[in-house]
Amino acid sequence: MTATPAWPPQSAPRLHVETQLGEAVVVPVDGNPAHYLISVMRVKEDDIVLLFDGRSGEWAARARDIRKRDLVLECISQTKAPEVVPDFWLCCAPIKKGRIDLIAEKACELGVARLQPVLTRRAVVDKLNFDRLHAHLVEAAEQCGRTALPDLVPMMKLDALLKNLPDNRWLFFADETGGQPLHATLTAHPGPAAMLIGPEGGFDPQEREAIRAHPRAVPLSLGPRILRAETAAIAATAAWMTINGDWK
Ligand code: SAH
Repeated sequence: MTATPAWPPQSAPRLHVETQLGEAVVVPVDGNPAHYLISVMRVKEDDIVLLFDGRSGEWAARARDIRKRDLVLECISQTKAPEVVPDFWLCCAPIKKGRIDLIAEKACELGVARLQPVLTRRAVVDKLNFDRLHAHLVEAAEQCGRTALPDLVPMMKLDALLKNLPDNRWLFFADETGGQPLHATLTAHPGPAAMLIGPEGGFDPQEREAIRAHPRAVPLSLGPRILRAETAAIAATAAWMTINGDWK
């Protein structure tokens, strides 16, 4: 008996596109993505490529009209419904290039809904390259099977975050000077969440006071060691996903 080939083929490349996907939608591809498909992945006529646009789930598309630098992909069927994204915002102070890139990549893999950069007083970096961060989110989503990118929103000052935080959202605050025990505290606070992580230099005392005064703030401890900001962001996200997110 011959085995039925897996559908969609497990080896099919995955690509994020801007075009809204749907039945029979034809997506022209050129530039870097075309180079990746044609020269790196060696996609041939009629091969399957998996596409997602961040809104319409995932679609299997057939490769057509392959030329040296471009091709078209024609959607044939939906392979995944749009994902249900746990309502978790990762709010972190900007940190150095490389380390913030790591946060973007891991935030996407771990299932974060929104990546919210927050400017704090001791931040050593006050500008971020959003195009580069977006590219890291796209690459991580292509690799990990997500159909929606985390929403990358413009940088906000800490006081604006505190002022504008929706009433129904917990503001978990990773406090390196001592917060409440993580497991019990997250378990006691289900529902929409924002996780606030400080920069390399930590929060200054006034900031800590302002955060703690917020009615939805919940100070958290990430254990007895001082973690680097990127480790704290990744670990706190994983902990929330385990207890209140979609790892259950
Ligand atoms: N320079 C600071 C450490 C900053 S660590 C100091 O030496 O005190 C960067 C951020 O990671 C912190 O602001 C905090 O949000 C988080 N973090 C690191 N370790 C933590 C811990 N053990 N508990 C809670 N948050 C922690």
